[in-house]
Amino acid sequence: MDEREFFEERTEQKVHILTCPHCGQEGEYQVSWLVRRKRAQLPRGADERDRAKFAKAQSYMVRRDDVLGCKNIRCRKRFEVTSLQSVAELQDTAVKHGADRAERLRAAFGRRTLG
Ligand SMILES: [Zn+2]
Repeated sequence: MDEREFFEERTEQKVHILTCPHCGQEGEYQVSWLVRRKRAQLPRGADERDRAKFAKAQSYMVRRDDVLGCKNIRCRKRFEVTSLQSVAELQDTAVKHGADRAERLRAAFGRRTLG
């Protein structure tokens, strides 16, 4: 099974504060990301190997914009987006919340069994 099947894919615009390297002016820029959100459930037809891969899979996003145009009217030069990662993990996922909850439970109940 193609690992892409584990994710729902869509393009999202996110606003980032970036600094133009030519004029040094900071500005808000819309950056386009290809967002791959992990599905809530394993797709049909998955085998054991897919199951293991799916368990480890994490939502992530891939930056689509490499070059932006400076917003400063007196500059207007194009610059490369070097301050943002080209691939970033997604923090706001159900998967992540689930992991946090498991950690909280371990923290709450784990110690008691040790003592
Ligand atoms: Zn500039």
